[in-house]
Amino acid sequence: MIKLIPFFFTFAAITGCQPAYIQDQLTPLPLNSIHFSGFLESYLQNSIKNWNKGVVPYSGFVLKFRTVREFFAQGEMWGKAVRSGCMFYRYTQDPELKKILETTVNDLLTTRRENGSISCSVVSQQPDGPGGDLWERKYVLLEQTNPDMRRMMETCVGVTWLKFCSQILRLQGDPFAVDMIEKYAYNGLIGAMKPAGDGFSYVNLLNGVKTNQEGWGGYVDSVYVTCCNLNGPMGLAYLPFVAVMNSKQGPVINLYNAGVSNVLTPDNHSINLNIVTDYPLSGAIIVSVAPQQPEKFSIRLRIPAWSQATILKVNGEVVKVVPGTYAEIYRVWSSGDKIELMLDMRCRVINAPQGSNSAGDNYQALIRGPVVLARDENMDSDYNKPVAFISKDGYVDVIPEFPAQQHTKMQFLVPTAGGYIHMVDYASVDSWKGKQICTWVLKK
Ligand SMILES: [Zn+2]
Repeated sequence: MIKLIPFFFTFAAITGCQPAYIQDQLTPLPLNSIHFSGFLESYLQNSIKNWNKGVVPYSGFVLKFRTVREFFAQGEMWGKAVRSGCMFYRYTQDPELKKILETTVNDLLTTRRENGSISCSVVSQQPDGPGGDLWERKYVLLEQTNPDMRRMMETCVGVTWLKFCSQILRLQGDPFAVDMIEKYAYNGLIGAMKPAGDGFSYVNLLNGVKTNQEGWGGYVDSVYVTCCNLNGPMGLAYLPFVAVMNSKQGPVINLYNAGVSNVLTPDNHSINLNIVTDYPLSGAIIVSVAPQQPEKFSIRLRIPAWSQATILKVNGEVVKVVPGTYAEIYRVWSSGDKIELMLDMRCRVINAPQGSNSAGDNYQALIRGPVVLARDENMDSDYNKPVAFISKDGYVDVIPEFPAQQHTKMQFLVPTAGGYIHMVDYASVDSWKGKQICTWVLKK
């Protein structure tokens, strides 16, 4: 022991005698601190009710641990289902959901094998048989318009990206990470969800049939489960914990879904932030600030990089903002203070990235706020015809109109050289019966 002491001091001298703590710049709010009420809440509740409390075959998953897995990496599935359920329980505190989770955890604990493991593989074949790996192969394609590509990103990959970005956000406090989360949440994530809430698509296509029934997985208790329909709800369950966060300087508003949050100020007093908005239908957002008592601290609001012409006012007074940063408002906050934010919802036209196949170069897409638009075969037989968008300085003057179909969340008249066409938000297109979409539109 004595011989080791000099080594210890040497090590301590090198590291400066201080244990190196990692400090989060932003921290998630405690449980029960945020309650959505707007756009995203319907997706969350739909998933909780019809997936996590609905069709998930918990006992069927556990049975595979008692016997043996029927297909590769089936053991991942129980964990994914329980993880999204736990994340949702943090958000809802729903006793029924908690009971379901407790029951299945207790059930799983009874499946221990003779070597102490809990596994879908018999002891002689652990860890996962020859050639097995934890994550299997995932698919990320950058060549979005390459006509040779038939397969796009898995929901698993999108949700993993979202989780990665949320960790970067905590560590770095970088609003760019939220821009990435927002883009995935409002497009790929909810765009992969079944209209009835009872599952997620395996991969998302941008052109063609957006969603697909089939993927890696199989039937458990007559429910078709895949890695992706188990991971999709986890992406949803993360959103409340990203939407509003806290920091040493004060609360941070990241996502502009309607809802109420309760946050502790730097002096440990309670403050309510009530966000009223129909975002992302419009970019008009009002935040009512109600602290327990007047106190000086910062409230930070994310100004998305895409919002080039933003108006921010505090109690009617204009505050200057820079796109792609947090607007930091440092002042004495009192009950009744009001923040008004008007984000730039002009529709942007973007050119397709240049891939390895030049046949994919001549495409364009439209994005309004965080929402990607698409042409929908359900309502438009010319959905895949080339068009020439009429744009000025990179913006297309789209006109909101009442959606023609029940499932459509947003619909717009879009000016082209050949007259107006209809486009809708990518996410709400129903491709589950085989109808196609066109997100990257061929330039005429
Ligand atoms: Zn997957």
